[in-house]
Amino acid sequence: MGDKTEESKHAEESLNVLHSTQLVIKEALDKLGYPEQVYELMKEPIRMLTVRIPVRMDDGSVKVFTGYRAQHNDAVGPTKGGIRFHPEVTEDEVKALSIWMSLKAGIVDLPYGGGKGGIVCDPRKMSFRELERLSRGYVRAISQIVGPTKDIPAPDVFTNSQIMAWMMDEYSRIREFDSPGFITGKPLVLGGSHGRESATAKGVTICIREAAKKKGIRLEDSRVVIQGFGNAGGFLAKFMHDAGAKVIGISDAHGALYNPEGLDIDYLLDRRDSFGTVTNLFKDTITNEELLELECDILVPAAIENQITAKNAHNIKAKIVVEAANGPTTLEATKILTERDVLIVPDVLASAGGVTVSYFEWVQNNQGYYWSEEEVERRLEEIMVKAFENVYQTARVRKVNMRLAAYMVGVRKLAEASRFRGWV
Ligand code: GLU
Repeated sequence: MGDKTEESKHAEESLNVLHSTQLVIKEALDKLGYPEQVYELMKEPIRMLTVRIPVRMDDGSVKVFTGYRAQHNDAVGPTKGGIRFHPEVTEDEVKALSIWMSLKAGIVDLPYGGGKGGIVCDPRKMSFRELERLSRGYVRAISQIVGPTKDIPAPDVFTNSQIMAWMMDEYSRIREFDSPGFITGKPLVLGGSHGRESATAKGVTICIREAAKKKGIRLEDSRVVIQGFGNAGGFLAKFMHDAGAKVIGISDAHGALYNPEGLDIDYLLDRRDSFGTVTNLFKDTITNEELLELECDILVPAAIENQITAKNAHNIKAKIVVEAANGPTTLEATKILTERDVLIVPDVLASAGGVTVSYFEWVQNNQGYYWSEEEVERRLEEIMVKAFENVYQTARVRKVNMRLAAYMVGVRKLAEASRFRGWV
């Protein structure tokens, strides 16, 4: 009995993404030889704002939504990171996501610290105008702590370029000048960057290619399974398909599709809705749990947190797991997969392509000079390959898994900048 309680406590604990992240941050700082006070600074965001946003709904009633904005650490530069609209957003999740943004910025060497926002809402059940009012209300509520040289938001789960446009417009009205550099992931006509929409998936594609090389797998002969068919998963399916790989499984929040001969990706992309839902159109579906355990070479979780856990890690058949989502694999699962010699390319590296092109967008906004798509792609390729190799070699030399190596690479710049400023 006693054992069981311990076990369930442990299981509960491991699903708290903030707690798991803190454990790895601590391990990374210890390995790098930093004193305890550095961890004390890094373990939580330096600033966390909770807001309540009243929104007039289409039926005339008022609904009050809860939102958050976390700023992890601004020693390196302004904080940066997306805004998530999701019914399950929690304070701890937003905090963890802001820490992950700091790590991503460190890994791809951007002049930013990490930030993240979230609103507890279900955009699938809201109208276009309700979403506009919620987006503008959120910006009014957080306007004091954000800005082009303070904290720069971007899209995340269930937010898109239209939402970024409303937010940019609201911020510009408050400040009374045009402020494209306030937010990234904007539509092209409002100062967005070429290649931003597909950037996360491009970065993941580069990581898959590099990881496959290390494992001696030819992309052309590989079978790929992707969980999630939103912005990251959708573009990724297309890029993998174009690279000659066989995408044999994809999924959305409702279920999954499987075809050992390869799915018709163009058709599925054409039929999915704006939230990445497509499996509802098919009778012959499998579950998300079954999808993760399919026989394949490369598995890409591109949806939400805690998908690969101690429960299913033993049944994962892939040789490489590349995390396009934030936090899809628990620490226990990381351990199990590593012991089974599965190569995990962690989220903070694999999904850093999004914030990299966001940085390009911000640079272009600040300069008022815009780059071609080729320019964006060339620079993204260069940065991602370098980051992958850096983390891979750190893992090899320090004899640690890729997740710990990525944290070591990611946290170092932050710790050094904090030290030089005299904070620790
Ligand atoms: N939301 C994305 C992420 O988690 C992008 C953040 C950004 O572009 O600032 O990496």
